[in-house]
Amino acid sequence: MNISKSFIPILKNNPSEAKIKSHQLMLRVGMIKQSSAGIYSWLPLGFKVMKKIEKIVREEQNRIGVQEILMPTIQSSEIWKESGRYEDYGEEMLRIKDRQNREILYGPTNEELVTDIFRSSIKSYKSLPQLLYHIQWKFRDEIRPRFGIMRCREFYMKDAYSFDINDEEAFFSYNKFFLSYLKTFKRLDLKAIPMAADTGPIGGNLSHEFIILAETGESKIFTDKRIFEVDTKDTKLEKKSLDDMRKKFEQYYSVTDEKFNKEEFEKKVSNENRLTTKGIEVGHIFYFGDKYSKPMGASVDLPGGKKDFVKMGSYGIGVSRLVGAIIEAKYDEKNEVMKWPISIAPYDLSIIPMINKNDNAALDKANNIYLELEKNNIEAIIDDTDENFSSKIKKMNLIGAPYQIIIGKQTDGDLLEFKETGKDSQKLKLKDIIKIIIEQKVKN
Ligand code: ATP
Ligand code: MG
Repeated sequence: MNISKSFIPILKNNPSEAKIKSHQLMLRVGMIKQSSAGIYSWLPLGFKVMKKIEKIVREEQNRIGVQEILMPTIQSSEIWKESGRYEDYGEEMLRIKDRQNREILYGPTNEELVTDIFRSSIKSYKSLPQLLYHIQWKFRDEIRPRFGIMRCREFYMKDAYSFDINDEEAFFSYNKFFLSYLKTFKRLDLKAIPMAADTGPIGGNLSHEFIILAETGESKIFTDKRIFEVDTKDTKLEKKSLDDMRKKFEQYYSVTDEKFNKEEFEKKVSNENRLTTKGIEVGHIFYFGDKYSKPMGASVDLPGGKKDFVKMGSYGIGVSRLVGAIIEAKYDEKNEVMKWPISIAPYDLSIIPMINKNDNAALDKANNIYLELEKNNIEAIIDDTDENFSSKIKKMNLIGAPYQIIIGKQTDGDLLEFKETGKDSQKLKLKDIIKIIIEQKVKN
């Protein structure tokens, strides 16, 4: 891609309406454009990143055997009346009337709809467990949308639902998601901490939020620092191993403000291990038994001939919020350098030729390099404009491809000036650069 032909509307200065760095950067490099309060269009750069995040989220769901479906954004109020949440959900739900005067709504979450799908087809314990997910837009009429796509009204979420025969099996499902979430966030180069959480309008009694530390986060957290060291690498997708893994986390006090109890915190965590800080909620999992299956009549035949309501859990990841969360974690706002993890970078590499008027040599070289990279599945962006060199570097530092090739005075023959974005440059041959990038891509 040539920058001159791209739709990457970069602003010279930080937009004044943005209060946190992710919102600043996203507007600055034109990843999103607000269309109305809390509602955004995703422009090419932002959309590319979000789609790559979505792909990783999907791969990790598939890996634990969750089956992908797609439910609509618009739901009928009938099923919400059955569960009793039509009244309870309150003003956050966008309620609409169709031309027949029927009450419909834009889904804020999908427990009811997925329970309705389940009960229409699954009748026997022999078909359990059922694990289903979809990745779909949600709407919540947040009272105070803010921080760009971090707290907006329309957002993109992965939500999964589990259906099991009893508590024991349901905890097994819960723990699979628990581990899968840790893996997902790790692949996004984020350290997410599972914290005991309140269940809110979803209901139930077992719940964890996955939080990444960030000063600009909206969740206040109280935690034992030792939780950061918990190692999950030997955990297997088996009941006992998963149970032990969750216990390893749960031995440390780690909660968000709704669950915080000062006395308990001070009793359980010694002074030097106490950490009170802020974080961003990127995922949230719930176990709520028969809260929906019972009022909605979702039951299955048991081995002995009796029937029972299925035990359910739900599991959300804020796919669009993650774009902002990753910027909060990775953007060096002082030096104005963004370096995306290669697994989700909009481009793998930027090529920055110093272009002299009446001399196409640098641009020709850039184009040849581009083609060679393309053959190796490395996606590059070339700054083919005739802006001055320092503003080109500035721009590419904001776009945040993790690697850069600079074609200028330092280029001699086969040796190219190559650098990791934000670091010092080194001279390397193209074939060695390709090797480095491919290695990184494979690792991630
Ligand atoms: P919050 O506490 O941040 O309002 P929530 O607990 O209401 O979130 P869940 O129902 O747990 O949200 O939704 C699952 C995930 O969807 C959250 O962990 C978060 O990453 C994302 N999410 C929720 N609300 C929003 C929003 N208004 N804008 C962007 N992402 C959101
Ligand atoms: Mg939540």
